[in-house]
Amino acid sequence: MAEKGLLFVVSAPAGCGKDTILNELFKKTDSAGYAVSATTRSPREGEVNGVHYHFITREEFERKIDEKEVLEYTEYCGNYYGTLRKSVNDLIERGKDAILKIEVEGAMNIRRLFPEACLVFILPPSWEVLEKRLRDRGTESEEKIIERTRQARTEIGYAKNYDYLIVNDKLAVAVDDLLAVLRAEKLRRSRNDALLNGFEEGGDA
Ligand code: 5GP
Repeated sequence: MAEKGLLFVVSAPAGCGKDTILNELFKKTDSAGYAVSATTRSPREGEVNGVHYHFITREEFERKIDEKEVLEYTEYCGNYYGTLRKSVNDLIERGKDAILKIEVEGAMNIRRLFPEACLVFILPPSWEVLEKRLRDRGTESEEKIIERTRQARTEIGYAKNYDYLIVNDKLAVAVDDLLAVLRAEKLRRSRNDALLNGFEEGGDA
């Protein structure tokens, strides 16, 4: 089977539970790792530098862009977010699949740079459920909820460009679905030509 790690992108609008899905996934497999991005936004409560993000200043971020240390980046709600080349390479070279948890435009850029990357989009079960989840967080004003719902609509518009869709209705099912995608991608014939070559050259059938 493919020995080098593969590149996966996971995107979802806010409220679809992608962080929870990924946290559960990493409890179930150590064949994949999270490629930690850099951002200029401030850490939220409980976020750890180097684990959730590399929290850096705008100057540092811009230096990284100039020195080609970021594979792709975007400005989202006034902050820079970018995939660090080193975060991805460190995982892939150790044979681990690199999971990029990035928004839709970043995902499209990754697709252009790495056509072999696998893109997974996580959907809510319905609009009603998504809105309810955003409201139940209880941390945001009505105005913010409307803005996030509008943003979700735009983001879901990109889902047609992804390879896999996972509906997060029941968490355990969504996690299993993502594990299945990771596994199936490793078995793709196109990623395992070396395996077939061995059979074509030898054998007495
Ligand atoms: P948050 O501030 O909620 O952690 O992230 C905001 C959005 O930025 C999320 O959709 C997240 O997936 C996305 N994001 C995080 N890191 C990156 C990155 O490196 N590149 C891009 N393009 N988006 C990112």
